[in-house]
Amino acid sequence: MYDERKSVLIVDDQESSIVMLTKILSPEYALLTADNGFDAIKTAEENLPDIILLDILMLEMDGYAVLTSLKKNDKTKAIPVIFITSLGSEENEAKGLALGAADYISKPFTPAIVKLRLHNQIKLIEQLRIIENLSMLDQLTDLPNRRYFEERMKSEFGRSLRDKTHLSILLVDLDFFKKYNDTYGHQQGDKALKAVAASFSAALKRTHDFAARWGGEEFVILLPNTDSNGALDIAEQIRKNVEDMVIPAPSGEKTKITASIGVNTKTDESYNDFFQRADKALYEAKNSGRNKVCSSL
Ligand code: GH3
Ligand code: MG
Ligand code: MG
Repeated sequence: MYDERKSVLIVDDQESSIVMLTKILSPEYALLTADNGFDAIKTAEENLPDIILLDILMLEMDGYAVLTSLKKNDKTKAIPVIFITSLGSEENEAKGLALGAADYISKPFTPAIVKLRLHNQIKLIEQLRIIENLSMLDQLTDLPNRRYFEERMKSEFGRSLRDKTHLSILLVDLDFFKKYNDTYGHQQGDKALKAVAASFSAALKRTHDFAARWGGEEFVILLPNTDSNGALDIAEQIRKNVEDMVIPAPSGEKTKITASIGVNTKTDESYNDFFQRADKALYEAKNSGRNKVCSSL
């Protein structure tokens, strides 16, 4: 079963400390333990705990060295680390915080303080995730934004190379949208953009299909495991759904809009060319009359 609890890695070379912390923190957290620095780094990298409680005084590799190593690794550098140690001097505390520790607890600790400090860090992580999510979404359409799309495109491109699976991309650009804005006003233009964004889901049935707002009146759709015929079908559905849509204006007028779509399915081109070919196809769709789907093939 999927464990929804936050996970905490406890690192301490004294068994009594691990036993005590385990007693304090279970069953609220899913716990991992390590009794030396090397195991701590390995366990952190393999399990990516939400947070790490790290002893400083340990044989062979001390807590400072463990923290330094965690911060150097892209996979573990964002995991908050709380030092928990009998080295109570301000100097040691300052050293720990300067290395990037999130917090510092002195031994002997009281259970309530350990719990509260942990709660605070977890709250911070959750707030950070909310902010990250917000910055990935386009405010107007609620679709993922360009930054998010580019990350996704990179990883899907890599996956397609590794697994030798198809990958297609659609670039969708609204036709004469400047004129639409000029005719009905910018606010109505925004309404049209929202309606177009919402219409994509009707044609995108698979969980990995991914639509984003590229910017302005341009959208981009990634279709993993989809060959060129499949991509052309979906592009044609999207084009038709936009064409069939009626967007009422405040005046009661029923306004209409169309879109041109460029399609590319990956063959052996580079990552940059993958997008460029779809852009070329879009250019062709525009030049050959608009409200059209064109393929790079
Ligand atoms: P084409 O058929 O060649 O694509 O013509 P077009 O008018 O759609 O293309 P152009 O790039 O000249 O104009 C795009 C317009 O999209 C201009 C801009 O005002 C409008 N636009 C871009 N972003 C937004 C937005 O967020 N809201 C609104 N309402 N309009 C936007
Ligand atoms: Mg445009
Ligand atoms: Mg346009």
